[in-house]
Amino acid sequence: MSLTLTVDGERWRGHLRAVAHATPGLVPVVKGNGYGFTVGRLARKAQWLHDQGLGVDTIAVGTYDELPHVARRFGGDLVVLTPWRPFGAALEVDPAVAHRVIHTVGRASDLEDLLGRQPDARFVLERITSMLRHGLSARELWSTAPIVAEHRSARLEGVALHLPLAQGSHLGEVSRHVNDLVASGLPTTTIWVSHLTRDELAQLRAAYPDFTIRPRIGTDLWLGDRAALRVSATVLDVHAVERGDVFGYRSRTAPKSGHILVVSGGTAHGIGLEAPTGESSIRARAATLARGGLDAVGFVRSPFSIDGKQRLFAEPPHMQASMLCLPHGPRVPDVGDEIEVRVRFTATAFDRVRVD
Ligand SMILES: *Cc1c(COP(=O)(O)O)cnc(C)c1O
Repeated sequence: MSLTLTVDGERWRGHLRAVAHATPGLVPVVKGNGYGFTVGRLARKAQWLHDQGLGVDTIAVGTYDELPHVARRFGGDLVVLTPWRPFGAALEVDPAVAHRVIHTVGRASDLEDLLGRQPDARFVLERITSMLRHGLSARELWSTAPIVAEHRSARLEGVALHLPLAQGSHLGEVSRHVNDLVASGLPTTTIWVSHLTRDELAQLRAAYPDFTIRPRIGTDLWLGDRAALRVSATVLDVHAVERGDVFGYRSRTAPKSGHILVVSGGTAHGIGLEAPTGESSIRARAATLARGGLDAVGFVRSPFSIDGKQRLFAEPPHMQASMLCLPHGPRVPDVGDEIEVRVRFTATAFDRVRVD
């Protein structure tokens, strides 16, 4: 009945342990939809890694609003990746959790404001990178050193860098930032980074042995072993149609005889009209038109597979279900059968996560 993520538990846990073991200073990122698993489950898994003696004394959440979902499931420190601002959810942190929260500060004015409100705040200073998302320029970073020096109880936990996904080596960029940090005179030797390869991390550690490197990792940790994960939908209904039969919200007519399948999984789950991967080049579309298939008359490829082939949506996905076209030929599944679905994990709300 459900859109289900089935996890091969032993394999998944083995992968998590292997990543934690191979990544000293690992900071699991637990945010958004929890990479499909929910943030609550990931927070518990991070605690489990910690309990096994694999480090993991800190996790990172995306937003202040996520703190209540993880704070009781994971007992260590909680970095918030959204920069602190003097308004909104950043000012509403539960006082019982405040001493575990590490704020991300990306403007000098925010640092003064934060320390004015909470003199013993824990924080990282974010440096802007080639991502150009948030953070301080080199000059602004220098300007924070006197502010930190003035606030004796302030707890600077390091400098944070958010790097783009790998496009060649990041090491040149990271080295410039480390040198800027040294030049700033800020009293920290901890660097929080994202998206460095294992090799890059090793080279960084070798180049700066006095520094502590804290890699923030989400995707490669939670989703790094795809073979441990299977996504399935359930066939809820099967209707035989003849060419010209009417179906759907828009009273479309079937261009060919075959079957209309109704399967679990729709817009509420994040099932989109376009399959997340596939041929979208002009050449591929031209080939489709030349073949004269259903997709040539406006049917769009769905992420649902039957007999190893992604099937076309009969019409745009509905809230909790999707209608698919199955032309004559392939085996027609029965009501209750499970079919495979290809999803973007970070944008999918599963009905169930089953860890076997
Ligand atoms: C989401 C995020 C990460 C983790 O990214 P993945 O690609 O999932 O590993 C790291 N740092 C920051 C600032 C992020 O927003």
